[in-house]
Amino acid sequence: MTKRDYYETLGIGRNATEDEIKSAYRRLARKHHPDMNRDNPKEAEEKFKELSEAYEVLMDSNKRATYNQFGHEGLSGSFGRGGFDFSRDFTHISDLEDVIGGLFGGGGSVFDILMGGSQGRRRGGRGRRGERGGDLKIKLPLTLNEIDTGVEKNIRLKRLERCNTCKGTGAQSGGLETCSTCGGSGEIQRVSSGLFGQFINVSACGRCRGEGKIISIPCPICHGKGRVEKETTLSVKIPPGVSRGNYLPLREQGNAGRNGGSPGDVIVLIDEKEDPIFERRDKDIFIRVPISYTLAALGGKIEVPTLTGQVKMKIPSGTQSGKVFRLRGKGLPRLEGYGRGDQLVEIVIWTPKKLSSEEKRLLKELEDLTEKKVPRPGKI
Ligand SMILES: [Zn+2]
Ligand SMILES: [Zn+2]
Repeated sequence: MTKRDYYETLGIGRNATEDEIKSAYRRLARKHHPDMNRDNPKEAEEKFKELSEAYEVLMDSNKRATYNQFGHEGLSGSFGRGGFDFSRDFTHISDLEDVIGGLFGGGGSVFDILMGGSQGRRRGGRGRRGERGGDLKIKLPLTLNEIDTGVEKNIRLKRLERCNTCKGTGAQSGGLETCSTCGGSGEIQRVSSGLFGQFINVSACGRCRGEGKIISIPCPICHGKGRVEKETTLSVKIPPGVSRGNYLPLREQGNAGRNGGSPGDVIVLIDEKEDPIFERRDKDIFIRVPISYTLAALGGKIEVPTLTGQVKMKIPSGTQSGKVFRLRGKGLPRLEGYGRGDQLVEIVIWTPKKLSSEEKRLLKELEDLTEKKVPRPGKI
């Protein structure tokens, strides 16, 4: 596979300034962020990594000069084994925090999001003790209007919080004993001899489950669990233009961890409520508007509802049923923050079902006049 040119990847000229590189990167990083591309996250991730590598090189004046002179070849060996690795070699995380922070109201660290799923949330320093709390998933259905403008929502949820009475230990004060099996170390060593010498096998102590301490008198509030269920309300800011399948991680708002472990996240999954009149088509919105045969034939003006209120629309004379008009910029905003989609208006000629005798007489008269003008069946 040939590697794409860094300048081409970022869509910039070879003389681009640092500011230009930065703004190109920010724009594309938003667009290709795996969170924004839930339908094809693998491809988005690849793209995102490609962008980040180009950014890493072009923002470093030494690397950039080498690249300008020798191309990709010149940089072989400037990243670690296996080439550029985002989690190891990307040094501009703070530039990204800002991009994604703007998108998600500062909810999470882009580094976490990018590294994806549970393996990405391995936070350092947890060690043997302290198990990370579980994530909570919440589905948040939004109306088309809320998606249009963006919205701040309060979410009520039940989560496990650290028990304040025992400070999360699960024991009443003085009710915690050192485990006699492991002597408080939490691990058991077994020495076995083999052909090539002695082996020391270290495993977690089964009695205290590696914690080194045993609860002798459980806390009366949490009954030894160290955590209690509580109801809480979280506020979440939804940017305009989201769609079903996007998710917003609220970092460390999930269940409390065990034994001082970090809390899990709350994952807010965006869902869309069905709109009574509009149909969403990606960034465009679609509506069917019935008009009378006479209006279609003679032309005139109609009122069409949009997300931002009624607008007047001109119907040219001779408009056929099924004709689609486009109201530019009346669709949904783009999540990446550039422009809006359109509103598509399909005209349907409405045929009356009940006619008065006067109407019947007039239409019969009209029928005799227009019969010959109707085209033959086929691809009209
Ligand atoms: Zn033990
Ligand atoms: Zn307790």
